[in-house]
Amino acid sequence: MNSITKRWLRGSMALTVLILVLAESLFLYAGRSSYYAAARQALLSRFSSISGQLKMYSGSTVAASAENRNLALHRMVEQFEDKDKIEFMLLDSEGQALTTSSGSLQAAADQEEDFWKAIDSPSGQGESIYFTGENEKVMAITLLSPYPAGDVAALRMVTSLTLVDEALAQRAWVSLGVAFVVLGFSVYSGLYFIRSIVNPLHQVERTANQIARGDLSVRLPRGGQKDEIGRLCETINRMAEELAKTEKMKNEFLSSVSHELRTPLTSIRGWVETIAALKDPRDENYQKGLSIIAAETDRLYGMVEELLDFSRLQAGIRMECQPLDLVAELTDAALFVEPRIQKAGLSLRYEEPELPLPVWADPKRLRQVFLNILDNAIKYSKPGGAITLELLQDGENVYVLFRDEGRGIDPEDLENVKLKFFKGKNAVRGSGIGLAVVDEIVTALNGSLDIDSRLGEGTTVKVVLPLYRPSAPGEK
Ligand code: ADP
Repeated sequence: MNSITKRWLRGSMALTVLILVLAESLFLYAGRSSYYAAARQALLSRFSSISGQLKMYSGSTVAASAENRNLALHRMVEQFEDKDKIEFMLLDSEGQALTTSSGSLQAAADQEEDFWKAIDSPSGQGESIYFTGENEKVMAITLLSPYPAGDVAALRMVTSLTLVDEALAQRAWVSLGVAFVVLGFSVYSGLYFIRSIVNPLHQVERTANQIARGDLSVRLPRGGQKDEIGRLCETINRMAEELAKTEKMKNEFLSSVSHELRTPLTSIRGWVETIAALKDPRDENYQKGLSIIAAETDRLYGMVEELLDFSRLQAGIRMECQPLDLVAELTDAALFVEPRIQKAGLSLRYEEPELPLPVWADPKRLRQVFLNILDNAIKYSKPGGAITLELLQDGENVYVLFRDEGRGIDPEDLENVKLKFFKGKNAVRGSGIGLAVVDEIVTALNGSLDIDSRLGEGTTVKVVLPLYRPSAPGEK
């Protein structure tokens, strides 16, 4: 049996059983007390009517009135109406029966406990419950005669408890039945409920194991339920989809990187062979070859940098932050790419703000952010276009805007461009991790990256970073 079911049995069922046992015992105890109290009440009410009648008997002397009462009591016993249900008897001062309504003196007063209790009790009343010689359970109550009545010292009534006990037993069976029905129902509904959790969980476990083994095509069935389990299934499906997407993009990345590495390597090898065949370093091709080799080596260098970015991204980017002037950092990056911008036939528009804008960041990573975005802006612009840089602030955050007039991003691609290895339909070269690295760094600096683009009109990339205030909570 699985452990959720076991835990439920141990916890909830144990409690239910305990509550049922307690309720059952209380119910039966209360039933017994009230049934016995009713039997007692029946005897006591007869005693009180007899005492009421006795009060009226009197005579000229004390002895005469005692004699009258004695006679009256004997008569009452003889004429006792409820003979079949109750045995009424008169006892002498030794607790021996003088007369009894059943007529058989032998069986009367086979137990005298209630008589002695009555003698000892200040109220003159004693009660006992016992089994008779015929093994019948009875209740007996003795009341000392409230008035002197000759040799009659006490009155005693005995009634059988058989019927009462039968009624009690019936009540016990019915209530036990009810308790079992309640228990059965709660076991059934509990198991049904637990199964509705445990079965889907088993399925989730199997699917997650399959995913862990690398089968990214499995999906959990989409049940109609919108509860926690339904949401868990959806999350696992989404996870598998994302993993499959990343896996696909990673494979594409690897094949595109190897492909791109091959082109410069082929060219370098070709030129090395050409140069080796040329004896004269002053040969035109000798120089051309060397400069092509140098350019291709740079390209290779750039690609290796990208691969390093990739491995850093996998490992999580580490930051060494310090207070920085964002204006100075952006100006630096702009100066660095300016020659490339000019070479591509583009113009750079940048008005450097006069006041510094302090941020808390790692200078190397910040530069990487700017260069990656600028690299895209150059790559995707047409000659004659402009790249505009703008710095704004609102007292809370700094906004760095990079606007280009290039080919723009397809709206379908826009939401994916921040993903690792994603390359848009318009992509020229690159491995698709530039913006993923930018996003990772900006997020680590408590900022955000927004990209807005119109196909054919241009793209605006906005980097938002919190302004640095020495006591600000962003500082570590
Ligand atoms: P890469 O490192 O290959 O340049 P990025 O993550 O920087 O990849 O960009 C992902 C994709 O976003 C690119 O393949 C391209 O389709 C699109 N993209 C990014 N910047 C621009 C831009 N300024 N203009 C047009 N498309 C862009």
